[in-house]
Amino acid sequence: MSKLLDIQNLVLRFYTYEGVVKALEGVNVYIKEGETLGLVGETGCGKTMTGLSIFNLIPSPGQIEGGRVVLKSKEGKVQDLLSLEEKNLLQIRGEEVSMIFQEPSSALNPVYTVNEQVSEAFLAHRKKELVKNVLDELEKDIRKVGTGSFKRRIHSLERKIYKRMLKNPHSRSLRALSKIPIINRYERRLDREVRKQVIDLLKEMGMSDPERVVDMYPHELSGGMQQRVVTAMALACHPLLLTADEPTTSLDVTIQARILDLIRKMKKRFGTSVLFITHDLGVIAEMCDRVAVMYAGNIVEVADVTEIFKRPLHPYTKALMESIPRPGKEYKTIRGTVPNLMDPPSGCRFHPRCSNAMEICSKVKPRFIEVKTDHFVACHLFKGRSK
Ligand code: SF4
Repeated sequence: MSKLLDIQNLVLRFYTYEGVVKALEGVNVYIKEGETLGLVGETGCGKTMTGLSIFNLIPSPGQIEGGRVVLKSKEGKVQDLLSLEEKNLLQIRGEEVSMIFQEPSSALNPVYTVNEQVSEAFLAHRKKELVKNVLDELEKDIRKVGTGSFKRRIHSLERKIYKRMLKNPHSRSLRALSKIPIINRYERRLDREVRKQVIDLLKEMGMSDPERVVDMYPHELSGGMQQRVVTAMALACHPLLLTADEPTTSLDVTIQARILDLIRKMKKRFGTSVLFITHDLGVIAEMCDRVAVMYAGNIVEVADVTEIFKRPLHPYTKALMESIPRPGKEYKTIRGTVPNLMDPPSGCRFHPRCSNAMEICSKVKPRFIEVKTDHFVACHLFKGRSK
């Protein structure tokens, strides 16, 4: 499998009144085509910021100060997302890469219905496909009515407009036409088609009674339903890469299992790659092919999921594994807390909490090395070749 997304040496800083937060310090990680990569670590390690940097959506006062985010597009074109202009990025967001945000209630707009919000994603990225469906319907209607009838003339006029829309889905003259009362009735066909697609997608999401849900507002939905709507929005355009940031954290276990199942099904059906951001190692074990462990703005270990659970190498990964509650076994907490990234520890950022720390650890930052095939670690305890 070739690389779909390659994050290279990503450096992110936040310039605050209190000081500079060194949020990401040369993050290197890649995702292969069709694979699920889990990104784990404690809260505040930089997982979400790594996910947001793919979309170049870093909140103010954050600034990406170095690195590249290289994506292989649907046409096989390789491009650095960080160097693209906003208008080109808008096309890529949703169509090539999309995201399920952490909090579904804040990701949804409270003043729009489910239909309005999900159909926006369809119209922005799959309008041509929808217009083609409308034209097929129109042809059928034209065949049904007699030649020379008033209805046929209306249908023919609609066909003319939709053919123009097919050539240029975002034409300005059509946008102006849609503002004229009575004439803008031609849009009803497209609205009906989008609504049908939204209902079908909600059905695929396992939503019961989608015909009713489609006209509801976010506050009328439960947490699980909101999460499914957000997932539907992210999957509406069949993206190449789906970034799921803690998609199940606020949900109860039954809904959690359902959402995970949906992502898995979508992945199988459309070949979507998934970046799964979570601190839940149980979810990682169930969903991922490979795992990247993050600590204080650095990737400290990357390996195959089975390998990382059976043979974790980095002391931080080991500590994370030991903190998983298991029946009949006492779990250990990791001593200390994630450091303040305004003034992070020198050398290895984990050294104040590491029980294996040596003299070199506080002075020299460990290199990210491959200790065995596809198992990378950044720790002075290991020797291998640099990545
Ligand atoms: Fe511990 Fe040193 Fe390895 Fe860091 S480099 S994890 S402090 S042993």
